[in-house]
Order: sequence, then C-alpha cells, then structure tokens
Amino acid sequence: MPSYYCGKCGTTSRAYLTAAGAHQHGADHRTRAHGGDHPDGECLVANAPFMPRAGEDWRLILAMVALLALAGFCSRFIS
Ligand SMILES: [Zn+2]
Repeated sequence: MPSYYCGKCGTTSRAYLTAAGAHQHGADHRTRAHGGDHPDGECLVANAPFMPRAGEDWRLILAMVALLALAGFCSRFIS
C-alpha cells in the first residue's frame, strides 16, 4: 500500500489503498507545509504496512473479532 514520504519533514503519511490517494496526500502536504514547492527527498513509499489510526479503528477491529468469536461459539449450540 503506497504512502507519501516528505524528506524535508521526515514524515510518512498513512498507507493508502491507491497511489492516487498517496499522491493527493502529497499535494495537500506540499500546499500546506511548503507553499506548493516540492521538498527534497519526497517520494511515494510502496508496500507501507497498513496501520489503523489510533482510537476508533482499533476498537472497531476488536469489536469485529469479538463478534466473530461469539458467532463461532454460538454456532456450536445451533447445529
Ligand atoms: Zn514536508
């Protein structure tokens, strides 16, 4: 999954599903942080690991895992 890396700031964006999403993140970052100029060392990083952002995303994943475990437990008594 691609992400945008800014060499001047030393930051990497979250991973995007498409390269277009990472490009758009880079364009927004350039405008906001660098007045539209291209910072040295910026690039797209391929195969960045997908990490849910803190907060709600982790809780949603944990809720889904708990729901699947509950469904598996209940299926033992149905059949
Ligand atoms: Zn930057």
